[in-house]
Amino acid sequence: MTKHKLIVGNWKMHGIIPEASIMIEKLKKELGEVKKTEVVICPPFVDLMSADESVKGTNLKLGAQNIFWEEEGAFTGEISPLMLKGLCKYVIVGHSERRIYLGETDKMVAKKAAACVRHELTPILCVGDSLQDFAEGFSKVTILSQLQAGVNLLTSDEVKKIVIAYEPIWAIGTGKNCTPNKAAEVIKDIKHTIGEMFGKEASDKIRVLYGGSVKAKNSNDYFEFPEVDGLLVGGASVDHHEFSKIIMGAEKHEK
Ligand code: PEP
Repeated sequence: MTKHKLIVGNWKMHGIIPEASIMIEKLKKELGEVKKTEVVICPPFVDLMSADESVKGTNLKLGAQNIFWEEEGAFTGEISPLMLKGLCKYVIVGHSERRIYLGETDKMVAKKAAACVRHELTPILCVGDSLQDFAEGFSKVTILSQLQAGVNLLTSDEVKKIVIAYEPIWAIGTGKNCTPNKAAEVIKDIKHTIGEMFGKEASDKIRVLYGGSVKAKNSNDYFEFPEVDGLLVGGASVDHHEFSKIIMGAEKHEK
């Protein structure tokens, strides 16, 4: 089974209208031919409509940075799966910035992941250890407990379709990326745990990305490890030069 690389750009809270379309136009101009690598851009919610126009006729896909689990109702400020369906294919859930600044719990993340799958959206479920976990040797415990809780409401058929992103908090936006070797080791542990919970087919099919201070200068090193199914890129994804280099690097590594 060939799995193509998945490169996801998380723009976070960048891209004030009409910058999003301008940024995508620049990226389109810079990108060479991308036939195999799957590329997803996750702009802020308000940019999704104009981004949708900009990606038409290309193989760039869109993702959202968050979602709410209910379909409709008195949930001020929230965005439902029904609102996103048709506009994007992917949704980032459980990003550490939301867990830290907005108090998102494992239970909320699990409900978001399940809501995505049940509305044919692919969740990109983020898990990651803190600097303290890392220093005290608790990284694996934290990562796997977030993982188990996050997939808790899914069936084995559903879990095959989701994407996990290993994003160590100590590597996000710090310029200190996790080494490709270490990232691949954690990704193996994640796939092993999925196998234990849901069976071999699920662990073979699930895609697991690495994210944290990925730049064009280090991205290719991750593609040397077959366990790494792709990258979740934050800061470097809002720079079209950097992001296109990362994508073209992935494309070169495709079989
Ligand atoms: C992220 O926010 O998902 C991320 C990986 O950020 P950065 O690439 O800037 O470290």
